[in-house]
Amino acid sequence: MAMLVLAGCKAERQKEYASFDDYPVYGGAWEEMVYSPGETRFSLWAPTAQEVRVLLYDAGQGGAATRMIAMEAGAEGMWHAGVEGDLKGKFYAFNVKINDVWQGDTPGVMAKAVGVNGDRAAVVDMKDTDPQGWTEDRRPLLKSFADIVIYEMHHRDFSADTVSGIRNRGKYLALTEEGTNTYLGEKTGIDHLKELGVTHVHLLPSFDFSSVDETKPDKPQYNWGYDPKNYNVPEGSYATDPYDPVVRIKEFKQMVMALHRAGIRVIMDVAYNHTATVKGSVFERTVPGYFYRQDGNGRLADASGCGNETASERPMMRRFMVESVSYWAKEYHIDGFRFDLMGIHDIETMNAVRKALDAIDSSIYIYGEGWAVNPPQLPVEKQAVKLNMKLMPGIAAFSDEFRDSLRGPWGDESKGAFVVGRMGYGNGVRFGLAGGVRHPQVFSDSTVHSLVAWAAQPAQFVSYVSCHDDLCIADRLKNTLRGASVQELKALVKLSETAVFTSQGVPFIYVGDEVMRDKKGVSNSYNSSDNINAIDWRLKTTCRDVFDYVKSLIAMRKAHPAFRMGDAGQICEHLEFLDVPASNVVAFRINGKPGGDEWENITVVLNARTEPVKIDVPAGKYRVVCRDGMIDMRNGLGGIIGGQLVVSPRSALIVHQ
Ligand code: CA
Repeated sequence: MAMLVLAGCKAERQKEYASFDDYPVYGGAWEEMVYSPGETRFSLWAPTAQEVRVLLYDAGQGGAATRMIAMEAGAEGMWHAGVEGDLKGKFYAFNVKINDVWQGDTPGVMAKAVGVNGDRAAVVDMKDTDPQGWTEDRRPLLKSFADIVIYEMHHRDFSADTVSGIRNRGKYLALTEEGTNTYLGEKTGIDHLKELGVTHVHLLPSFDFSSVDETKPDKPQYNWGYDPKNYNVPEGSYATDPYDPVVRIKEFKQMVMALHRAGIRVIMDVAYNHTATVKGSVFERTVPGYFYRQDGNGRLADASGCGNETASERPMMRRFMVESVSYWAKEYHIDGFRFDLMGIHDIETMNAVRKALDAIDSSIYIYGEGWAVNPPQLPVEKQAVKLNMKLMPGIAAFSDEFRDSLRGPWGDESKGAFVVGRMGYGNGVRFGLAGGVRHPQVFSDSTVHSLVAWAAQPAQFVSYVSCHDDLCIADRLKNTLRGASVQELKALVKLSETAVFTSQGVPFIYVGDEVMRDKKGVSNSYNSSDNINAIDWRLKTTCRDVFDYVKSLIAMRKAHPAFRMGDAGQICEHLEFLDVPASNVVAFRINGKPGGDEWENITVVLNARTEPVKIDVPAGKYRVVCRDGMIDMRNGLGGIIGGQLVVSPRSALIVHQ
């Protein structure tokens, strides 16, 4: 139990609490700045403060405060001040005094607009941040989580390359530009996404993070952004003007609106599990200690591997997370949230997040990394980890089992797995194809993971072979199949993605994998240059067949409900794994026409061997739609009559009746 005793307290208002559990919980609307032309109201939850001030500035950076206003202590740890006059365009910071020590300027924990680098909050009228047409913006239709296809994207990876033909390279506005293409005529930007057919774009951290200096737009800088500074404000370096607090908000909304118009939903990557630093963080300068977990010795705990871990189980941290996602969903029309290191959070908080988002729109998707870097300071039965997913209905997690069974283990990038012909991963592939639900033909396999059927429903299971972490798929294959030719690599990317897109889980693809993007062999490229991270869009021409293949996989999945039954019972009833003659071959048949599919008895064979294989199937007449690295759903690729399917080396075969 963490103890925080404030000794030597002289001021009347300062409260002493035996433990964080005794801190008051604020129940009113948690707003730190409420603007009106006649008066701006400031509030800050700072229950251990003896004094709190709000300081007004003319700029987001530099210069002395023009005014300093003492705040008054209110109920439940909240402090308040009202300032008359029109403060629009001014900047502000709070300063909290504890034990006679001023903690330093902070924009507060709830800042919704900030100046450059997020050091000061800004007085804005949120109405000014709405682009034209914003009130008509609607989420694209989504009938079921089973229909989702996720595309994970970093702004700079996607559009920093000059070949993209995009003007606002690496910015939010890049995603608003239509009609862009490479000099070779391939569509880029939002048109590329439409062409590919994904339903959701998952944006890597786009909240305000600290690692990129927003005052130096011409300095080469790149970061994934998992170093949160202000959780409720868009990052400034992706805006055309990080100094004007309105611009980043408006441009973010323009991006959301453009994606929505293109029929694509928007997912935010959120990292509430840690902050960039503790010293000087918005949390620490407001209520020291409270928002972070401590270990048994009273030191900062570090389940994130980033030097700290937040304390979601404390009521005001829980409330903070719920308020924050609700705010993004309402103010920015965000359609989904991907929780970084979700295993650090507690189950009750994640369920509270689900409930709050359901009240806004139950089609908002939630998923996360169901693990932590180090063991969190929370009993395992309370952790929002994969093995507890059944206690979190409506929330999904990434399947590292499926990923590792396909591409090779985490932690040793020289090792491959199923797709490069290593034995022992067939069960892991079957586990993933079944969407991680209990299935009578999926058995525990100790080669990689224990393969516990942790998903109650397949929409709780995110299927993928690569993401921003680790090597992208082309690099991983190069690493694990030394000397492989480009043709071999292309074949194996196609085979890997066939597994992902015929899985009953929710498919997820990393930006550029559809054109064989590489990161020049750099795995943890979180702060590598654009040279490593930006996609060279000339690849869309040289790897056009891979793009067409992935595009067709997506189209096939969308057209055929059998590939996305969305229900564990249906999967057990219809999905049957077929006997295979050798290792590194997995075959399954979707019996009947689940979901009213036009196709009957769809049969998929994944052959990762270097020779052809023959699979026995019930005798009949089959129509081929995928063979030898090509897909043609409409015209088909010929027929097979009889009871045997012959599948070429390193390729997938898909047939139906
Ligand atoms: Ca920033």
